[in-house]
Amino acid sequence: MSLRELLGGDALLAERCVRCGFCNSVCPTSLVRSAYRPSRTSRGRIVLVQSALEGHLDDVFDEELAELMDLCFGCNRCVKVCPAGIPIPDVVRGYRHAYHRAVGVRREEALVLGYHRYAPLLSRLPRSLLRALTKRPSRVLLEWAIGTSRDAPLPLPEGGSLDDLLRGLPRDRGAVRLALFADTFYRYVRPSSALRVVELLSRKGVSVSLPPQRDSGVLLYEHGFLEELKEVAAVNALSLAERVRDGERVLTCSPASTMMLRSVYPKVLGTREAELVAENVVDVNELLLELAESRPGSLAPRAEEVVLHSSCLSQFLGLTEKIARTLRVTGASVREVRGECCGMGGVWGMFARNRADSVELCRRLTAGIRQPLVTYSETCYLQIESVHTGAVLQSFEAFR
Ligand code: SF4
Ligand code: SF4
Repeated sequence: MSLRELLGGDALLAERCVRCGFCNSVCPTSLVRSAYRPSRTSRGRIVLVQSALEGHLDDVFDEELAELMDLCFGCNRCVKVCPAGIPIPDVVRGYRHAYHRAVGVRREEALVLGYHRYAPLLSRLPRSLLRALTKRPSRVLLEWAIGTSRDAPLPLPEGGSLDDLLRGLPRDRGAVRLALFADTFYRYVRPSSALRVVELLSRKGVSVSLPPQRDSGVLLYEHGFLEELKEVAAVNALSLAERVRDGERVLTCSPASTMMLRSVYPKVLGTREAELVAENVVDVNELLLELAESRPGSLAPRAEEVVLHSSCLSQFLGLTEKIARTLRVTGASVREVRGECCGMGGVWGMFARNRADSVELCRRLTAGIRQPLVTYSETCYLQIESVHTGAVLQSFEAFR
């Protein structure tokens, strides 16, 4: 099959590019020093796809081209500025999907494909063994095996699962009931953070339970594994729709989960269950704003003065404004940092080949910040915490 046939509608989208370069002005990968090299920018990637479609490239799936396309980490910052209305990350995902069908899966993608399977297994290992995985020899081995940088923060489980932690809590069936969609990170990697969300809400009279669920599939989506994504999405949509029919809203506590349930599942599944879930998703930051506004005094900020980092997906989902508002309503003074990206981009900044650019971006973001830095994204949090010397809080941890 030709690239045009493999790309389908994404080929027509790429052909609309007028090469204006507006996308470069907001794309994090265009803001680092290495972006002087050809095709390492947002515009460069679309021009590459155009050139491939016009037959100017000998091999449209050669390793170098695939790596250049992989520089995009799906932050969506470019989507709002493109005058031709091109959803650039969709074109990149389309290219990756075409690559998998034409060539296969690359070695580094083992992490992407296997994360939701390995994390539950790893979370059951003794803590001493989990600690050993974070030590230098293990990190060097992982870098050699799957290309993850030995210096990057990896989402390795802290031990135990959210299911275990919630099992010990009384099953309160209060007036406000929510079904938590925790995703792999909060269920198996940092269950203690999700427990803090559940405990905070429980103190405010909101009861949270954990319905049967699988990973959100955000990595599968970003990396173009669409068949695998549909499989997990269908299981989640069915399970969560059942809770919605039972009168519950679906609570998410990561912007990736909010995006997947609210906009990606309806698009890839097109089912009534996916629509029903999408209509009933409440992001934890929206819920906290509801609480702060409807019950003044019910939430208090942990710090009087904070800097709010607008993570790519919270900006895309319109959540940054809501987080800032909740902080202000509860009495905190907030300075927003909107233009800068932490450089993690899901798992992009974890790979050795992107690490230097990723750290460069994070240093730009955190330079000169003295107050606690509030962010909303599990991977942004891991990244900022690993580079910045000051205090970092997830947005839902900024309140008590
Ligand atoms: S999605 Fe983000 S990383 Fe990808 S091209 Fe757009 S701005 Fe750049
Ligand atoms: S902003 Fe849109 S039209 Fe302009 S270079 Fe980027 S993709 Fe092409």
